[in-house]
Amino acid sequence: HKVVFSGIQPTGIAHLGNYLGALRQWVTLQNESDPSTTLIYSLVDLHAITLRQPPAQLRQWKRESLAMLLAIGLDPKRSTIFHQSTVPAHAELMWILSCQASTGYLGRMTQWKDKTSGEKEGSEKLKLGLFSYPVLQAADVLVHGATHVPVGEDQAQHLEFAREVARGFNHVYGDGRVALVEPETIISSAKRVMSLTDPEAKMSKSHPNPKSRILLTDSAEEIRSKINTAVTDSITGVSYDPVQRPGVSNLVDILYHCTQGAGFEDQAALAKDLDGSSLRAVKRRVSDAVESQLRPIRERYQEIINNAQLLDDASTQGTQKATISANATLAKVKQAIGLT
Ligand code: ATP
Ligand code: MG
Repeated sequence: HKVVFSGIQPTGIAHLGNYLGALRQWVTLQNESDPSTTLIYSLVDLHAITLRQPPAQLRQWKRESLAMLLAIGLDPKRSTIFHQSTVPAHAELMWILSCQASTGYLGRMTQWKDKTSGEKEGSEKLKLGLFSYPVLQAADVLVHGATHVPVGEDQAQHLEFAREVARGFNHVYGDGRVALVEPETIISSAKRVMSLTDPEAKMSKSHPNPKSRILLTDSAEEIRSKINTAVTDSITGVSYDPVQRPGVSNLVDILYHCTQGAGFEDQAALAKDLDGSSLRAVKRRVSDAVESQLRPIRERYQEIINNAQLLDDASTQGTQKATISANATLAKVKQAIGLT
């Protein structure tokens, strides 16, 4: 039985990297999977609070993020869409798994190292939740018995950790029978869309500079202006070389993925075709391609965002389905370890 699970943090409107790297796959999986496939997508609000958020802001982001999942084409009748904190089994399994998880392994996670670089060990600023959030992420996936998890490349390491946690649990408590399913990671071809202002870093919701990302709600003018000011380099011509020319290569990548490859075999072939064009013309093509991808999403979002009934119904329905799915695994886990 195939179970697809993935999540997004409600830390702002999703951007082009979220869409090309993860969300677009969620919709494809929904539309192309066999009807027997279970699809579960979560707005992971408990992850969102690993960095402090103003309560009113978080509440607004949760609503906007839900509306966005509907706007990209997820159907709450087919896919389970829910706010993580409404299903307590996630946090409960996290506690159980954290009694198994190695602090050494967690300390080596790149994301922990990145987000805490510059802080001294033992610093008051280093929060336990930020350190242990891969355990919550493992619980999110394992509590639904996910077999497939579509994410961007930055999450691959966390999923490796989730498999390790499942293996460890099964070894100790599995009793010969597999209790927790080791999930497979699905990485899309647009696995890492880079920032427009700092093309050596990935595009992120939480980066302070709004010009670094294209939001799925940006207008045609905003898209154009952000692409126009995107950092490139002073080398003449267009070529695809993510190491030497990260800015230009990111634009080629974006064009490639927004046009389903634009009829070219790979990004290098597309770049070769663009080589005669001015950077200005290339940027215009990229803006047009992004606008064509995002316009239908933006229009649907505007219709949905003020439809409180639709949003409430979708999330209530999602919570009900996700609760059943999560409680089934949690009951088995509690039985296995002697809590029940
Ligand atoms: P934050 O900065 O708050 O962590 P984020 O932009 O990283 O926000 P997440 O909610 O953490 O977004 O991630 C949601 C999904 O989007 C994950 O599957 C993640 O791997 C994917 N993703 C995030 N950024 C990118 C990117 N730049 N390119 C491709 N995929 C991405
Ligand atoms: Mg992230």
